[in-house]
Amino acid sequence: MPELPEVETVRRSLAPFLTGVTIRAVTVREPRLRRTLAADFAQVLTGRTIAQLGRRGKYLYLHLDDEKIWLVHLGMTGQLLVEKTENPPLPHDHVLVTLSTGHRLRYNDPRRFGLMLIGTEAEIETVTALGVEPLSRMFTGRYLREKIQRTQRAIKDVLMDQRVVAGVGNIYASELLFRAGVHPSRVAATLTEAATDRIVEATKTVLREAIRHRGSSISDYRDGEGKRGGFQDRFRVYDREGQPCSTCRQLIQRETRGGRSSFFCAACQR
Ligand SMILES: [Zn+2]
Repeated sequence: MPELPEVETVRRSLAPFLTGVTIRAVTVREPRLRRTLAADFAQVLTGRTIAQLGRRGKYLYLHLDDEKIWLVHLGMTGQLLVEKTENPPLPHDHVLVTLSTGHRLRYNDPRRFGLMLIGTEAEIETVTALGVEPLSRMFTGRYLREKIQRTQRAIKDVLMDQRVVAGVGNIYASELLFRAGVHPSRVAATLTEAATDRIVEATKTVLREAIRHRGSSISDYRDGEGKRGGFQDRFRVYDREGQPCSTCRQLIQRETRGGRSSFFCAACQR
């Protein structure tokens, strides 16, 4: 599933093609995504100009010229791709958008867990209900300590809770906890001040590094021009079960809880 670095990479790759561009036509070929697209989705979007491309957490915010926001979440397998010419639609192309530049934007999503809706900022916020952006100044050790004070939850679950911090999923939670030297199952409330500071620091470092490498392509993820990311080659623990730890050479372990795998080094992470 695309996390913050992947969505940010998609945003950056699409911005030159979409900013200031008018939507000429919209074809909905399959409205049944995670939520069924509004009946007037195509009508509301047609004729609007995209003023700016933003992002919050794992969501793309396409700011329209009528102050409304076209919200896009890529779900598990969603891809938003720009094409120079109008090719015949491919299987799973659910929404096709013709742009004033002659380019076309395609939303392709085999598993249909993606989300698309148009609303005012207030309407959008009730849907997304996001915590702070991890790369903003709002995400500090103090903020994290306030959120974990009385919780019995594991630190990894807290970091993946979008209402606490927006955009971190399984890959980057695993990677950042390795860098911070904290075991993913550790009860968050038992962490020292120094450890929470390390976690915040590691979150920012790992996300920035992953953005620099244009995200991680482990299955379907591609940027807005169909290119793969490169951060998957730099994973220290994620998907590395049984391989030696880059720091201590002990073998990386995997633990599965609630259908989700955690990868960690039992020697380096406490
Ligand atoms: Zn180790």
